[in-house]
Amino acid sequence: MAWIKAPGGDDVGRLIVQKYGGTSVGDLDRIKNVAKRAIAAKKQGHRVVVVVSAMSGETNRLLKLVNGLTQRPNEREQDVVIATGEQVSIGLVAIAIDAQGGKARSFMGHQCRITTDSTFSKARIKRIDAEGIFESLDRGEIAVIAGFQGVDEDGSITTLGRGGSDTTAVAIAAAIEADACEIYTDVDGVYTTDPNIAPKAKKLDRVSYEEMLELASLGAKVLQIRSVEIAMKYRVPLWVKSSFSDDPGTLCCEEDKAMEDILVSGVALDRNEARVSVRDVPDKPGVAAQIFGALDEKAISVDLIVQNTPVKGKTDITFTIGKADVVKTTDVMKKVVKAVKSGPVEVDDQVAKVSIVGVGMRTHSGVAARMFKTLSREGVNILAISTSEIRVSCLVPADRAELAVRALHTEFGLDADSVGPRKKTKK
Ligand code: ADP
Ligand code: ASP
Ligand code: MG
Repeated sequence: MAWIKAPGGDDVGRLIVQKYGGTSVGDLDRIKNVAKRAIAAKKQGHRVVVVVSAMSGETNRLLKLVNGLTQRPNEREQDVVIATGEQVSIGLVAIAIDAQGGKARSFMGHQCRITTDSTFSKARIKRIDAEGIFESLDRGEIAVIAGFQGVDEDGSITTLGRGGSDTTAVAIAAAIEADACEIYTDVDGVYTTDPNIAPKAKKLDRVSYEEMLELASLGAKVLQIRSVEIAMKYRVPLWVKSSFSDDPGTLCCEEDKAMEDILVSGVALDRNEARVSVRDVPDKPGVAAQIFGALDEKAISVDLIVQNTPVKGKTDITFTIGKADVVKTTDVMKKVVKAVKSGPVEVDDQVAKVSIVGVGMRTHSGVAARMFKTLSREGVNILAISTSEIRVSCLVPADRAELAVRALHTEFGLDADSVGPRKKTKK
């Protein structure tokens, strides 16, 4: 990603990007609250850029309209539809700022040249030309930018994937070299697990970029994963805060020594995956390449992969994909089954992925075994497993997932009422 920076610009106060998510702009009172917060920051002497999402529920409503026509929409046109939610929000926020005596100017993605590739529905930002934003700030305005959307080299509207306004905010913060990027949402920071699932979740004052990256990739939707990648790469100081309180929130920053002492720092739950099992796959070289190559050609990302021990020259291959890709995957697999001469394909979307994350796992063994023991004690069946240096993930039946999250949260000493240091397993 390359940034084109505007020259000069006088440096009064701090340069801050504030991003407000769907619930924070969910109705007119909340939009007035956003305007009030942005104006307050401006009055404190800061230069303020606001990035907003669509009003809560709006992107889902627009997607439902599209799916009312077809399950296999033209993705370019789908982006044209779903990008509109953010247009409404920027206009309303700019009007609210104006009505409260502030100065604001709204920008659609293409108006501040958020240029992306052409992967409709999950485009990646290539560059941002920040000149227009700086000109707006120099005029004393609050620049209000639409999250989630961009424009490709051909001028087509693109969107950045669900939760993509976080990525817009951090990318803009990197492009303008902001002093801070503040993500305002409906919880007051990053917790050890989703506080809406585990009431005993604890708020973290700080979380390392690396742990946040894992948590985000594992389904902690409080930050979109791409936003954390960009923050880490460009060292953007990233805060997660509540738009409804003045709590200082959580700072996402570089790892420090104290963080390494914590064995497991978070538990994540991802309900957005579906399991695909291909039965009776001929056990010979090149078959896996054919299956996953065909999925890759359609830009379908695969997560966990398990291959059973072959019996009589045949094996089963199981993998997970995003729920949004089920229809596309089913289409691809129909052709693949014929090409590789395998048995039938089963798709199960009643699954969820539960993961534990912590940089301390690097130096401590036995964590995975403790996770499996906890799940077995709770009667939770494990359907697939994957690990990295600082994470262990298990695919489990969807109806047992929340129970699994709470049990693991307690097992690894993360509950708010647990005392003393979080327990470590022997080296
Ligand atoms: P926004 O609309 O503001 O972007 P999101 O719904 O995308 O908000 O993200 C906030 C939600 O993320 C919270 O309401 C919470 O349920 C969920 N969440 C999942 N994991 C975590 C976590 N570890 N810490 C905080 N929130 C989490
Ligand atoms: N409105 C988009 C979504 O619902 C982007 C976002 O909220 O960040 O996914
Ligand atoms: Mg979000």
